[in-house]
Amino acid sequence: MILLGSHVGMSGKEQFLGSVKEALSYDANTFMLYTGAPQNTRRKKLSELRIPEGQALMKEHGISQFVVHAPYIINLGNAANPDTFKLAVEFLQTEIERTIGMGSQTLILHPGSHVGEGVEKGISKIVEGLNEILTSDTPVNIALETMAGKGSEIGRNFDELAEIYDRTICSDKLRVCFDTCHLNDAGYDVKNDFDGILTEFDKKLGISQIAAIHINDSKNERGMAKDRHANIGDGFIGFDALHYIVHHPALTSVPKILETPYIPSTDDPDKKVAPYKEEIARLRQ
Ligand code: FE
Ligand code: FE
Ligand code: ZN
Repeated sequence: MILLGSHVGMSGKEQFLGSVKEALSYDANTFMLYTGAPQNTRRKKLSELRIPEGQALMKEHGISQFVVHAPYIINLGNAANPDTFKLAVEFLQTEIERTIGMGSQTLILHPGSHVGEGVEKGISKIVEGLNEILTSDTPVNIALETMAGKGSEIGRNFDELAEIYDRTICSDKLRVCFDTCHLNDAGYDVKNDFDGILTEFDKKLGISQIAAIHINDSKNERGMAKDRHANIGDGFIGFDALHYIVHHPALTSVPKILETPYIPSTDDPDKKVAPYKEEIARLRQ
C-alpha cells in the first residue's frame, strides 16, 4: 500500500490527537507535522501534546508512520551570526526529543542558508551543527530536504547534500527528503525524467537514503529557484509526473507528503480549505 498523506496541523486542545484526526479526515495513511508554529520556536511540553491518545487512534486505523518537520526559521548554515547558529543547534536537540516522544523516526530539516558567506562556509557550519547534534545513540534520523535554491539556500543539488554526508561523523543518522517542487525549481527534470534523477541520486547518495518525499506541483518553470508550491496538476510538473512518482515501485515504503496550497472553498470563496482529501484520492487511483 502506497503511503500517502499531507502536512497537518498540531494546535488547540487536541494537539497530536488533532493531527491524527486531520490526517484521517483526508483518508491519508501517513502525515507530517510541525511541533508548533513553523515560523517560531515556542513549543509545548511533550506531556501536553496528547500523544498516547493520538497513537491509539493511529493504531486503530493502521497508520504506522509519520514524519516531523523542523521549523523553517532555524538556520544551521548561518556562519555570520553565532546566536542564530546556537539557537538552531539547541532547538534541534529538543526537537529530536519531541520527535522520539511522538513516535516518529524522521525529523526533516532544511539544511540551511549561507546568508552571503558562501556555500563552503555554509556547509561547514551545517556540518559543525550536525556533529554537535547527532551521536551514535540518536534514535531518529535527520532528513535533509532538497531545496529550490532561493536566496542562499544550501541543498539545491545532490553534490551539496553528499558533501554534508561526507563530513558528518554520524552520517548513518542522516537521510534525505525529496521535494518535487524544490527539485524542479533547482533545475532537475522532474516532469520528464524522474528516473534519471533517481539514478543520479543513487550514484551520489544511495536510493535507500530517501526517507520522505514532498509531493508538490510548482508555480514556476524548471530551474527558476523560486519555491512556490502549486496544487497537483496545476503547475509546471503536472499530474502525470507526480502520479508516476507516488506509484514508483522503488519508493513504495517511503512516506509521500502533500504540501500544496489551500484553495478557495466552493461554498464561500473568501474561505480557504485544504485540498488534501481530493488530491490524495486522485493520486491514489
Ligand atoms: Fe520543507
Ligand atoms: Fe517541502
Ligand atoms: Zn517549499
